[in-house]
Amino acid sequence: MIGQVSLPPRTPYYGLPPIGMGTWAAESTTSYVARLAANHCISVIDLVTNALDVRTRRDGTHWKLFPRQGETFKLNGVSTLAMEWGHKLANLTLQPSLSKTNLASLRGILPSTRLVRNTRAWCHLCLCEMQENAVYEPLLWSMHHAVVCPEHHVPLSTICPSCKAPNTAALSQRYTLGHCTRCGSWLGISNAEGKGPPTQWEEWTTLQMKSLISVISSSENAPSISVAYDNLEILILTVGNGRMTRFAQEIDTDKSTCSMWLNRKNFPTLDYCFRISLVSGIDVGKLLCSVVSPSEIDRSTWGRDGQPQWVKRPVRRKIDWESVKKNFEEICQNNETPSPGLRRVAKRLEVDGRLLKERFPDLCGRLARRNTIFWEKRPAQRHEALKKRIRRMVIKIAKNGYRPTRRRVARALDLTSGDITDKRLQKIWRDSVAKLQASQVFC
Ligand SMILES: [Zn+2]
Ligand SMILES: [Zn+2]
Repeated sequence: MIGQVSLPPRTPYYGLPPIGMGTWAAESTTSYVARLAANHCISVIDLVTNALDVRTRRDGTHWKLFPRQGETFKLNGVSTLAMEWGHKLANLTLQPSLSKTNLASLRGILPSTRLVRNTRAWCHLCLCEMQENAVYEPLLWSMHHAVVCPEHHVPLSTICPSCKAPNTAALSQRYTLGHCTRCGSWLGISNAEGKGPPTQWEEWTTLQMKSLISVISSSENAPSISVAYDNLEILILTVGNGRMTRFAQEIDTDKSTCSMWLNRKNFPTLDYCFRISLVSGIDVGKLLCSVVSPSEIDRSTWGRDGQPQWVKRPVRRKIDWESVKKNFEEICQNNETPSPGLRRVAKRLEVDGRLLKERFPDLCGRLARRNTIFWEKRPAQRHEALKKRIRRMVIKIAKNGYRPTRRRVARALDLTSGDITDKRLQKIWRDSVAKLQASQVFC
């Protein structure tokens, strides 16, 4: 008699394992999606649209799982989307560790504020080394508080060495690992961004993020909120010798905030977790994910004469004004579109906008004049550019043997709404289709 044969589960996608799991260099969700798409020789957009984007509700209707433009980096954080994508990817590839490629397991413990950065960051030296095996982006690079590479001790780059622009979108049509999403050039090149050496506080926060990611990517069970609150209570009572006011003073906050934490009404933000970790000698990873006992608290590294100044106010880095001026001049000279405003330039140069105005009034004036000219012409230019793209896309789709419907054209053009909603653009699309029908390119 032939018994029942149980087949192992099947998956439509190749079971690509995420890189670096169990270490601080664990891969991020956005990086994994890009690598999975590249391994299947399809675009990121196709993979997302076909496999990840749509979810069916119980009543049969669909809702979109794709984050809004500019919010794709939330997929690496604690958002619901991050959790959903982790599960979906794990089901698609049968790789259970994929739920650890973001911080979704800390959902409900850590608030999302100042957790994940909204631009890409990378270490050019790591990228060069990865070229020998596989290029990917560790989750650590997308963390707001990680500013230094723990391997090479150089500040993480945030501006493309070629086009001098930040990479603000992940999972777009042009998202390729190790390359700029704007100009497509290789990012593994040293880039003088006018950044000085990292401050003591920045190095500390990076080390803490490194420990947190190591713990999350290697632990079997998801962190529990009750364990985290128990740990917090032990630390507050032990460090402050049973006095909440003393503990509050040490981490530079007030008693009422500590009281809220102790009463389990809310959990400290990551910034406060760093401070608690500093005064207690317990790593953030341990504080959030494992059980802490009072005997493990080590205050030997804590300043003898009370709180060190750099906790309250991080040491100001020395600004290399020559390098800032050179980069500022380059930004003023290049024909970057859209033309960046002073606030954006200041952020890019990592200098306060008021200081830029004080030191380089001529360059600021030049930038302002260029911006005025650019933004006056911008609406007409955008409309004209989109008009040309629609016309070209209608012809291309028709030549490929498909009917150039409004939605199909919008999808091919990567329009976020998935449809051509502007009345003027609809007219251009209609005219282009009518012109095609007249020339009988398609039936
Ligand atoms: Zn590195
Ligand atoms: Zn670029």
